[in-house]
Amino acid sequence: MTTVLNPATEEVIAEFDSAGVEETDAAVARAKAAYPAWREVAPGDRARLLRRLASLVEEHQEELAQIESRNVGKPIAGARGEVGMVAQVFHYYAGAVDKHFGETIPVAGGVDMTFREPLGVVGLITPWNFPLNIASWKLGPALACGNAVVLKPAELTPLSALRLAELALEAGIPEGVLNVVVGKGSVAGQRLIEHPDVAKIGFTGSTEVGQQVMRGAAGTIKRVTLELGGKSANVVFADADLERAAATAPYAVFDNAGQDCCARSRILVERSVYDRFLDYLVEATRNIRVGDPADEATEMGPLISAAHRETVASFVTDDVRLAFRGEAPEGQGFWFPCTVAEARPEDRIAREEVFGPVVAVIPFADEAEAVRLANDSPYGLSGSIWTENGARAFRVARAIETGVLSINSNSSVRVSTPFGGYKQSGFGRELGMHALEGYSEVKNVFYSI
Ligand code: NDP
Repeated sequence: MTTVLNPATEEVIAEFDSAGVEETDAAVARAKAAYPAWREVAPGDRARLLRRLASLVEEHQEELAQIESRNVGKPIAGARGEVGMVAQVFHYYAGAVDKHFGETIPVAGGVDMTFREPLGVVGLITPWNFPLNIASWKLGPALACGNAVVLKPAELTPLSALRLAELALEAGIPEGVLNVVVGKGSVAGQRLIEHPDVAKIGFTGSTEVGQQVMRGAAGTIKRVTLELGGKSANVVFADADLERAAATAPYAVFDNAGQDCCARSRILVERSVYDRFLDYLVEATRNIRVGDPADEATEMGPLISAAHRETVASFVTDDVRLAFRGEAPEGQGFWFPCTVAEARPEDRIAREEVFGPVVAVIPFADEAEAVRLANDSPYGLSGSIWTENGARAFRVARAIETGVLSINSNSSVRVSTPFGGYKQSGFGRELGMHALEGYSEVKNVFYSI
């Protein structure tokens, strides 16, 4: 049985029979049966169906945002923005259907051409932090390429995916093309990874489970795309607009209560401005409004679960040097306050992914040390660079080993630009035209003339 809670109140909001191996196999069989007809749908018609889905998401924005807010504990204003992005993702990939094409290659004795072909049935395993967004980043390109899909959302947050599947049917996407199984990762997810009829796994989640996905996929040489953890650095040089860097830094780590793989959970600050920056940062963090996710003014809600709160709390031990600890509601709900810690690069809080509202602030001496510290991590997902020196900004951007960087900004994710990690943050790219690579094969055909 899957019990779904509202993390802000601990109320039970839904219960399901968990899908086991049998139900997962049945979903794969439905997808396999639907695939041949779906891949034959004319590009213009497939685009129209995805566009209709995008429009239905727009029409149901408030409903979907309320579902996501109650199930994840997200502030409602942010949840609306996230659903808006989901609609944009489907619009984008509707437009991409007929713009993802092959090439002709000059060869001797004939004509050589390539085709982009779908993989077949793909399994998508998604996490609880941005349930609908991350599902859409995979569904958009997968469906645009002509694949049939089995989506396994996180057991804690399956509600928005289930509603999206209903909207897909309403949009006219044929039955069996988009299937959702609600079950445990270790059962339903594992079965998808091993299933001989599943051609690819698109996974977002922890690096540990990402390793299991790779291992399990080896048995059938499945394609995998992995979007895993992060410990991204927000690098602030002395010549930056310090007030702006500090005013925005809390949102780059405490947004979604820090449960964000792109969280800039290490702030590296040039030593000469360290104290001044820390003062600004603490002031900005103090102003974050933590509370009821249903309140329009709320900026940060609770953590996802009691177990996760324990994990986050385990980072804030007595020996951690706190610069600030905010307030959070007491009583029901998995609350955790905004926490700013002064850290050394070797501290656990500065090395491991906390996935909660905890930031480690670390001084550096010069540009070389900033780059060395930023790269001193097994992860390489995201990050920011703050400086008014353009040449330095690009030097550092090219030197940091990470997939997504922003200069004088903390944004990582746009519908039309590639997103994904270096090192143990995974591989493969989501969003933009790059994502289509992960959901198609290239076939080469030579025609002798
Ligand atoms: P997991 O990696 O465990 O979960 C992500 C997804 O994988 C869920 O759908 C989960 O299912 C599924 N899953 C779990 N085990 C298996 C398995 N053996 N085979 C196949 N699928 C599986 O993340 P957690 O939710 O446990 O979070 C733990 C940590 O992971 C976080 O604290 C954070 O550090 C990191 N994380 C990173 C995310 C990111 O965006 N990169 C997102 C979420 C977490 P289910 O949970 O339903 O059992």
